[in-house]
Parts: sequence; C-alpha cells; structure tokens
Amino acid sequence: MTIFYKFEGKLYANITNKCPCACVFCLRKNGDSVADNDSLWLEREPDIDEIIKAFDEFDKTGLSELVFCGYGEPMERCDVLLEVAKYVKQTTDMTIRINTNGLVDFINPAFDPYKMRYLIDSISISLNAPDPESYLEVTKPKFGLPSFNSMINFAQTVKSIVPTVMFTVVDVISPEQIELCKELAEGLDIPLRIRHFVTDNKSYT
Ligand code: SF4
Repeated sequence: MTIFYKFEGKLYANITNKCPCACVFCLRKNGDSVADNDSLWLEREPDIDEIIKAFDEFDKTGLSELVFCGYGEPMERCDVLLEVAKYVKQTTDMTIRINTNGLVDFINPAFDPYKMRYLIDSISISLNAPDPESYLEVTKPKFGLPSFNSMINFAQTVKSIVPTVMFTVVDVISPEQIELCKELAEGLDIPLRIRHFVTDNKSYT
C-alpha cells in the first residue's frame, strides 16, 4: 500500500484515509490516486513502525520537503504524525509541512498544538470559505456549523508555534467569496493561496 509518494518534487505521507469532511473539491472523488502514483486507499491504517520503514526504504534523492497529505486528514492521527515527524527531523534535513482542514480541536480535543514546535516547519490550512455557513456548504464537516470558528482558532493558535502558516481556498467558490476570504486572511495576517479546482488529479495550481 502507498504510504509515501512523490508529487511535483515533494515527498508526501499518506498515513490515513480518515476524514471528517466531504469537501466538494476533494481529489478522492476523482480517482484512486494523484499523478501516476499507485492507489492512495490504504489496506489499513499503518502503524508507526510501518510508516518509518516505508520512509527509510523510499528513494528520497532530490526531495527536501515532506508533506503530510494524502487520501485523508493527517491530523486524524496527530500523535502518529508527530512521532514520524520527530524521526524525520532526527534522521534527515527535510522540512515538514502539514496540509490540514484545521479541525484537530474537534477530531482530537486533547491534542496539544505546542507539540508541533521545532518539528513542523509549515502548516497549510484549508480556509475554503469566508463564513461558517458557506464553509459548511463547501467542506461539509461532520461537526457542523461550529467547525469554521474552530478552524480559524486553530490557525490563530499555530501562528505562534509553527514558522509558516498559510490558508488555501479552491476556486469552486464565487469571486466575491474569494475576495472575502482574502480580506479575512489579511485581517488574520495569514497568507492565502488560491488553488485551481482540478478533476484529473494530475496537478495542483
Ligand atoms: S479535508 Fe481534505 S481529505 Fe477531507 S474531504 Fe476535504 S479535501 Fe478531502
């Protein structure tokens, strides 16, 4: 099963298929993988030893960044993620990024974000929409309307813990909503990246 895969010059870690959301733009709807990689649907949730073994065996030549992002929400397994991040920091010079929906406070309420300090170099958080109601339409989180504020709180919290924090939106929302997202992100002093909606899983732009 595919725990690690390469995509656009980066190494990706696919450590879970669990996710509390059903985003309208989710790549999982388009197919079983991204680019020419094997299926990202896991036979089972791999344990730490299995993940580290797969990391050691992967040819990392030319790869300088590890991104926790696969066919699921990586913070579903935040403790495993941090153990793997610790190993990667101890054994390589790679920088580490987490791509997350920012809902860890609902997913794992006991998670202490300060554990990410010195392990995680950057976090990309899916803003997805400018307000709780439209967030619900785009992201469809099982935690309902409070999800949006929880995600925003998480973003504000990690700003003082992780060196680089950024938001993303996918251009499935209206241009007016994208403008509102820009204003919101600016007000929070967090850069916003606008991603282009893709249906072929060949590229992210
Ligand atoms: S949070 Fe990520 S994995 Fe989950 S549905 Fe949205 S895009 Fe897909």
